[in-house]
Amino acid sequence: MSLLEVEDLQVHFPVRRGLLQRTVATVKAVDGVRLKLEPGQTLGLVGESGCGKSTTARAILRLVDPTGGKVLVDGQDVAALNGAELRAARQKMQMIFQDPYASLNPRMTVLDIIAEPLRTHGRAGKDKKALVRKVGALMERTGLSPSYMRRYPHEFSGGQRQRVGIARALALEPKLIIADEPVSALDMSIRAQIINLLVDLQKEQGIGYVFIAHDLAVVRHISDEIAVMYLGRVVERAPAVALFASPQHPYTQALLSAIPVPDPKRERKRRRLVLTGDVPSPLAPPSGCTFHPRCPHAFDRCRQEAPELTVRGDGHEASCHLEEAPSLEADA
Ligand code: SF4
Repeated sequence: MSLLEVEDLQVHFPVRRGLLQRTVATVKAVDGVRLKLEPGQTLGLVGESGCGKSTTARAILRLVDPTGGKVLVDGQDVAALNGAELRAARQKMQMIFQDPYASLNPRMTVLDIIAEPLRTHGRAGKDKKALVRKVGALMERTGLSPSYMRRYPHEFSGGQRQRVGIARALALEPKLIIADEPVSALDMSIRAQIINLLVDLQKEQGIGYVFIAHDLAVVRHISDEIAVMYLGRVVERAPAVALFASPQHPYTQALLSAIPVPDPKRERKRRRLVLTGDVPSPLAPPSGCTFHPRCPHAFDRCRQEAPELTVRGDGHEASCHLEEAPSLEADA
């Protein structure tokens, strides 16, 4: 059984205006997303701000209610759970946030922050010393000295705070962790350390990750599979190796071409696709393929007809009217 199956997920928000708060429009923040994650594997979810990746994550954890579709975690339909069932299910799925400072209560000690999920779910026990030992072990496992457990978040560096966030997420021994841009707010030098820590924890405990990032370079080495989102939809999905070797969608190609290649020969040979303009407003998405106003390969059909996700290789799908992916080699 898959750890996570997302089927045709939709999250639509009504836009209300006026005294009577009439619904004047609908924002389709997530529109028909399908994802799959096996236990102990990592799914990278990538796209620019506003593409719907964080809303997808929040709908998986049911922090927002989906408008339609299904989210199965460990075979359980998250959208169909009632209050008590949802609380029980939340123990197996945890979240790590982008801003480790904003996500930690500044008035709580690290001991209380890490112990909080155990207390909330009635798993702290009555033995205070045992709880302190458990928090100490979680701190050690995430590279923090247990001697710091009486300190407050402001006494830690950004990387250490993210380790506290990871220790808190691990407290309930989850099967699934959604990491929402967990390294974006950190210095380059710290990013690799945090990613390596997540990889080690996955190997030890078999945790499945949905790893959200706006940059393909960040998810490259951690992901087994990658899904690229644009304006609420998945536009390409593939095993990570296949996506980097042969990106099929012009948007994926543009994201990839933003990553520098260390080999100067290969760098000279490749075509640079620079994305112009911002992601259009989801309030008024473009007709047809929503990427067409920014796509260097757009043609008439793209403006009229939305492409479906179609198979491009083993486990590789993309939604583009072009039958073959445009070449990424520069003209001689
Ligand atoms: Fe570009 Fe057309 Fe493909 Fe959309 S369908 S990505 S506009 S070529």
